[in-house]
Amino acid sequence: MEHLSVTNAQQCILESVNKLDIETVGLEQSLGRVLAEDVRANRDIPPYDVSAMDGYALCSADLAKIPATLKIVEDIKAGDMPSKQVGAGQCARIMTGAPMPRGADTVIRVEDTDVVSDGSVQINVKVKPGNDIRLQGEGMRNGDVVLAAGTEITPGVIGILATVKSKQMRVYRRPRVAILSTGDELEGMDDPVDPNKIPNSNSYALMAQLQALGIEPTLLGIARDDPAELAEYLQRGLRFDVLLVSGGSSVGVHDYVRPTMEALGVRMKFWRVAMKPGHPLAFGVLQQNGDGTPKDSFVFGLPGNPVSSMVCFEEFVTPMLRSMMGHARLYRRTLTARLTHDVKHQAGRTEFVRVTLAKDGSGYVATSTGSQGSGMLLSMARADGLLVVPADSTGLIAGEQVTVQLLDGTAFQNEIEFRE
Ligand code: AMP
Ligand code: MG
Repeated sequence: MEHLSVTNAQQCILESVNKLDIETVGLEQSLGRVLAEDVRANRDIPPYDVSAMDGYALCSADLAKIPATLKIVEDIKAGDMPSKQVGAGQCARIMTGAPMPRGADTVIRVEDTDVVSDGSVQINVKVKPGNDIRLQGEGMRNGDVVLAAGTEITPGVIGILATVKSKQMRVYRRPRVAILSTGDELEGMDDPVDPNKIPNSNSYALMAQLQALGIEPTLLGIARDDPAELAEYLQRGLRFDVLLVSGGSSVGVHDYVRPTMEALGVRMKFWRVAMKPGHPLAFGVLQQNGDGTPKDSFVFGLPGNPVSSMVCFEEFVTPMLRSMMGHARLYRRTLTARLTHDVKHQAGRTEFVRVTLAKDGSGYVATSTGSQGSGMLLSMARADGLLVVPADSTGLIAGEQVTVQLLDGTAFQNEIEFRE
């Protein structure tokens, strides 16, 4: 099997998955989820024409000669209903959000007036009719779709949902994800420190990457490099929607993950991607027919090296999980930055260099986080983003404009925006 390009591997994964089923959640629990239904306005907002300012509601015809002194007939607060009509030479004191009184077609803000006496006010400016009035239905119209299915629920969307009194909504389910680390050399979190062992960091870094996507994973622990033990763990893991296996997917004599998965019925789609850090990366599908409805489980054999495992998660697992959760934007947001130093590169594989980002007068600048070995987890811990070195590049030069995928934050985009 030849090496797939990063984008071809992403494509293969995305073609294999569907959106998960739909469930109902409460408004308070809905942040980050994706709407599986259209949401409509249940009234006009504002419900009638209201003032946009604290000021005076009046007839614009009275502004022919400025300054104009008008008699105040009423005070209208937000929540009040006006009881008087405003006629020629009259006005009503009005607060932001309060309904416009009959007869008035304009609002003048307080700052453009002077108090003359208790009962009247002097208007100092001329404005067009309709000034500082929010029209009925300007914010949303009763019956209109205000949020379309597929919308990600952000704090702003929560505000809209609350406005239309949506206490519950239908959203795509989150995937159930299990994490399994493999390797005789691994030392568990609660094991005593043994200088001959390697602490299992991957389970926890992957856990955190999932949590950042809003998914609470199940940690299955550590399986030894033993086919029978591995098979037992994999069987448990394959009951989840997605199983992430760290380590053991390479071609070493103790790398049993791929053959064991295949023996359990997993169909491997690919296991080599032309990227650095990263390969081997295995991806497979298990067709499930347990309860009559076919439902697939997806397995990733991620590289054991800590940086490779995290970078593969970013490039492949993140878009897949976001797709399953109904998101339209699957990929980490990218930006263009100026490189502060040369980057060596041998053509053939797409490389992801961990960088920090800073800003200067001309824009963003990207600097390597230091030694880039696939075991150098600090290079990842310090990184703001992944600089994408195209596969055909023969090296980058200081001052070049480069593409950087952001690692932090919740910003995602529709398109993969790097050239491989
Ligand atoms: P493998 O892909 O199984 O050949 O693992 C490659 C290397 O990654 C191993 O030699 C370990 O140093 C490291 N490694 C594997 N699994 C983990 C893990 N769960 N946590 C930290 N490092 C790991
Ligand atoms: Mg191993």
